[in-house]
Amino acid sequence: MPDRLYSLRMRAERDGEHCSGAERIAPAAALPALAADLVARALAHNSGAPEVVHCHIDRLPGALPCRPLPDVRTYAVPDWMAGRACAKGLLLRAGVAAPAVDAALQLLADGPAPGGRIMRGAMLIDAFTGRRLEADPARGVRVSRMDLEPQARAGILATLAAAGLGHQRVAEALVLAGKVLQAPGIIAEVCWSDDPDYLAGYVAAPQVGYQRISCLKEAGDRHGGRALFVRPAGLDLPVLVDFLERQAILFTAPGTILPEQPWRG
Ligand code: AMP
Repeated sequence: MPDRLYSLRMRAERDGEHCSGAERIAPAAALPALAADLVARALAHNSGAPEVVHCHIDRLPGALPCRPLPDVRTYAVPDWMAGRACAKGLLLRAGVAAPAVDAALQLLADGPAPGGRIMRGAMLIDAFTGRRLEADPARGVRVSRMDLEPQARAGILATLAAAGLGHQRVAEALVLAGKVLQAPGIIAEVCWSDDPDYLAGYVAAPQVGYQRISCLKEAGDRHGGRALFVRPAGLDLPVLVDFLERQAILFTAPGTILPEQPWRG
């Protein structure tokens, strides 16, 4: 019988504000080293030393759903303003209405938590009106319990690296977006990091996959976050949140990786 798998979640904060986090799924034997790795990462994060590091481990049910990662394409843009225009174009193309796109991009630019702070999780946004739907606008919804399938991990990471996508952040964001795109009622996701040195971001949508944008913010900018756009018709919010936060999923293969192209609008 295959080893039972565990979810390992790390989250670090300072002054009640999110600093860093990570999600892994692994067999018991791998947990001590992985937990040490994630704690070291929380302590060394370039947002500064955290005050609290939470590490949580729980055992997952026997058989987990397995999916391939989304397809990846990269749009090269000359600067963050062109990147935001690209993100807006891709969100409109995915079916998000203009007021919802504009509201979300402004919130990400200003800091989506109260007081312009960084959220721990993602905003949930009505894709037509732009109204925020998450219960707690400081916490948001944390997409959890997803990872590369342990035995497929090395091969997938090698494929990504060979395509110039070897940065750890890309693999982690692909896994997160991969889970989001499986969720009921999701139309699109947009993300850029709160890390002042990491300027790339993405727009993901079910029909097209993960669309990486080479620059979405100015160097040194500490704002960032995630917005998940949902179709309001037929929305069952508790079911969606339960899926995003609690239902485990593994990714067993890379999607198609397309060559980088300029964004032409
Ligand atoms: P990162 O890509 O790790 O720099 O995260 C950028 C932002 O995305 C964070 O500030 C959070 O607001 C949000 N975020 C990070 N991890 C998650 C997650 N697992 N689920 C939902 N939102 C997240």
